[in-house]
Amino acid sequence: MTLVSQRDAHLATQTHSPADALLRHAVDLSHHNTMALACSADTVITLHDEAQIDALMVDKTAAIKERPLLILSGGSNVLLPAKLDAVVLQPMMRGINVVAQTDSYIDIEVMAGENWHDLVTYTVHQGWYGLENLALIPGLTGAAPVQNIGAYGVQLEDHLLYVRAYHLPTQTWQQLSAAQCQFGYRDSIFKRTPNTWLISRVAFRLHLHEAQVKVNYGDVQTVAQRYADAQGYQHLTPAHVMQAIIDIRQQKLPDPKQLPNCGSFFQNPIIPQAQFTALQTTYPDIVGYPMPDAMIKVAAGWLIDQAGLKGGGIAPIMTHQQQALVLTNHQPYQATQNDVATAQHHIAQVVYEKFAIRLSREPVWINADGSIGYDEHAA
Ligand SMILES: Cc1cc2nc3c(=O)[nH]c(=O)nc-3n(C[C@H](O)[C@H](O)[C@H](O)COP(=O)(O)OP(=O)(O)OC[C@H]3O[C@@H](n4cnc5c(N)ncnc54)[C@H](O)[C@@H]3O)c2cc1C
Repeated sequence: MTLVSQRDAHLATQTHSPADALLRHAVDLSHHNTMALACSADTVITLHDEAQIDALMVDKTAAIKERPLLILSGGSNVLLPAKLDAVVLQPMMRGINVVAQTDSYIDIEVMAGENWHDLVTYTVHQGWYGLENLALIPGLTGAAPVQNIGAYGVQLEDHLLYVRAYHLPTQTWQQLSAAQCQFGYRDSIFKRTPNTWLISRVAFRLHLHEAQVKVNYGDVQTVAQRYADAQGYQHLTPAHVMQAIIDIRQQKLPDPKQLPNCGSFFQNPIIPQAQFTALQTTYPDIVGYPMPDAMIKVAAGWLIDQAGLKGGGIAPIMTHQQQALVLTNHQPYQATQNDVATAQHHIAQVVYEKFAIRLSREPVWINADGSIGYDEHAA
């Protein structure tokens, strides 16, 4: 990880020639997606700096001419097809730059290829606070704005200043403010218009003083307090919160390296308050969180669990024994996207029959031509 104190200084030290963009053919991506789905890609191009993006798009080398593109980072939120014909672009640019600093905050620009969790730990250890609740989310920084990653009461948008991205249709670089990113719950302009923007840098504003930590979610307060007590602190620091969240996540979520998965598979459905109240009469324990406009966000894991599907599914894709929201692959590097679709439809159907609530998938479904998604409610 590099750190320099002046904007763009890293470009002077890290510039690669366009030819350095690594182009490979017939690449096995089975080990490059945390769900460990079998996938072979026709062409993969690894990008090490922004100049290579300009060169590729303007000159259009023979390898990518007239061919659809797919942007792939850490592969922790995608369901890849067995055969991928699109040209895969992997933004692996590295670097962290300080772009502004006052007595109370610091602004940093982070290149897309920086590992997200490493960034979180690095900032907390530097005394730059705000990202600590987002520790241990897999993937790279460039992908983080795509679904506005969120965990334990914090979303990326809470600390994001702007995104610098290459707009593929117009072949121009653009800087999008947080408002222009149109963030929503697990949503953004980048998610709604896939393969249109190639995110190259993400800028954050972080606190320099131990701002109020966010601990009002699950067990975070209790576990963080244990760390604070052990170290003789009278108050909770962001480092205590980060350590608590790492602990909680390690206990709750299966490690994709040991049991392939892509995190929460279903989004928490948002239903009208009236429907929630009606369900409460039959299911008094139903778990929901109030949202604006008289809506309730229902815990999808609870629905799946109550539908009797904890540890269930259709082999080799099964829900996790401890965390029903996570689908796991029990045949790594052999199971395919179709196996996932079969299990997803089964689970969604059983939940719908019991609660009349439709579950939507969170990870991104990739078609062979690099296009995104299919009608998940059709089956
Ligand atoms: C165990 C586990 C736990 C998880 N926990 C959470 C969680 O708590 N909260 C949460 O929000 N998510 C969570 N996730 C989901 C996932 O980690 C995040 O969505 C992460 O940001 C994806 O990063 P990635 O680099 O793996 O992206 P990929 O999976 O490679 O890509 C995801 C999408 O982003 C696009 N994309 C990737 N990079 C770029 C770029 N540079 N420019 C433009 N588009 C791009 C891709 O085309 C694709 O559509 C979890 C996943 C796992 C496996």
